[in-house]
Amino acid sequence: MYNLTPDDLEVQARARSFVDTLIPFEEEAESNNGELSRETEANVRARALALGLHATNMPKELGGGGYSMLQQVLVQEQGGRATNALGWVLGTPPSWLPPVATPDQIERYVLPAIRAEKEECYAITEEGAGSDVDAIVATARRDNDEYILDGVKWHVTSYNSSSYAFFQAKLASGPHAGEHAMFIVDLPTKGVRVVRTPAYTHTITHNHPIVAFESVRVPASQMVGREGDGMTFAYEWFRYERIMVASRCLGGAERLIEDTTAFAKERIVNGQPIAEFGAVQAMLADSLTELFAARSLVYETAKGIDAGVDLKTQHTQCSMAKLYASEMAGRVADRCVQIFGGRGYMRENVAERFFRELRVERIWEGTSEVQRAIIANQMVKRGPGMFV
Ligand SMILES: Cc1cc2nc3c(=O)[nH]c(=O)nc-3n(C[C@H](O)[C@H](O)[C@H](O)COP(=O)(O)OP(=O)(O)OC[C@H]3O[C@@H](n4cnc5c(N)ncnc54)[C@H](O)[C@@H]3O)c2cc1C
Repeated sequence: MYNLTPDDLEVQARARSFVDTLIPFEEEAESNNGELSRETEANVRARALALGLHATNMPKELGGGGYSMLQQVLVQEQGGRATNALGWVLGTPPSWLPPVATPDQIERYVLPAIRAEKEECYAITEEGAGSDVDAIVATARRDNDEYILDGVKWHVTSYNSSSYAFFQAKLASGPHAGEHAMFIVDLPTKGVRVVRTPAYTHTITHNHPIVAFESVRVPASQMVGREGDGMTFAYEWFRYERIMVASRCLGGAERLIEDTTAFAKERIVNGQPIAEFGAVQAMLADSLTELFAARSLVYETAKGIDAGVDLKTQHTQCSMAKLYASEMAGRVADRCVQIFGGRGYMRENVAERFFRELRVERIWEGTSEVQRAIIANQMVKRGPGMFV
């Protein structure tokens, strides 16, 4: 199916059997604030690296996997089959960075990220700027050979495990005043502090704190690219992450459908497996049909990227993939909770965990409403035929 090559199938099988070894740790993670024992954590990381499943998106010449987009999708799809973000160990470092990084940035950030020695976080969103990234009020002021960074960033995912942050700000002066720039800030750095670490719906080890950057001085060499480039990098990363979010949603939905179908065949009510009740069958059938539609959409989008379709088409189709796959996975999780009945409301149940965890897929990397706005704007400008 899906015209996968033998290489693609091998990548898929390798990722699948690795993720199968993570699934037994889900309940431990759920009952322990997302954490596994240090030993398990180290073991899992080492195996992901040894299996070539970390940094699949990074160039081969730098030590990354150099996988095709479709193969990256296949790996992340498998990662999405595990709850509690255990699949995040299949790390995707910033693939937009190598083409614009200085040799020093390659040495200090890109290579260690590929070796899984350093992790990054993104400090872009602010209290008054989420969907509308251009509304950020964080500033970068040039002072001789340095920039002085100020701003309060929200939802900084993985701050607690990161060695550096991408900080997006508007330039305070100079020929590019008011435009965006992106900086790499080592963690910890003087002037960077956690304001607070709110609790979120999911149970994972990655925190999303509110982080204040107060008169943080960084050498000018910590800027990525040039003044005014900041939004380009953010868009590139959003585009990439949108198709990866979509891929993980496929994996989540597949796992839910498999486990729920197995349960529905076993659970006897009034002398009959519930899988024989029309109402339950309808929920299962709708879920499988929508998974097939979403998977076809996501794989086709990835194949288009591999074939070099233009950027506008990539951007629009990645939005379609994220929109449809995340909404599909949310519907599937809701139905699966229903089919599990009371069990589906227990945290030890896979459907309960996915029901909570998949909710954010419709919010981060651009909400469903924002994806619809992107798709609609493009189809009005360029005609719907371009994208389907
Ligand atoms: C768990 C989590 C982790 C995150 N991690 C990071 C991170 O690591 N780094 C980072 O920088 N950010 C991160 N974010 C931020 C995330 O990207 C934003 O929350 C998201 O883009 C939405 O922005 P917002 O929360 O400000 O919502 P708002 O922009 O305030 O939106 C509120 C509502 O208005 C709707 N809306 C907004 N614009 C439109 C429009 N044009 N048309 C129709 N409706 C619209 C939205 O869809 C939503 O329903 C994270 C968020 C969460 C929840």
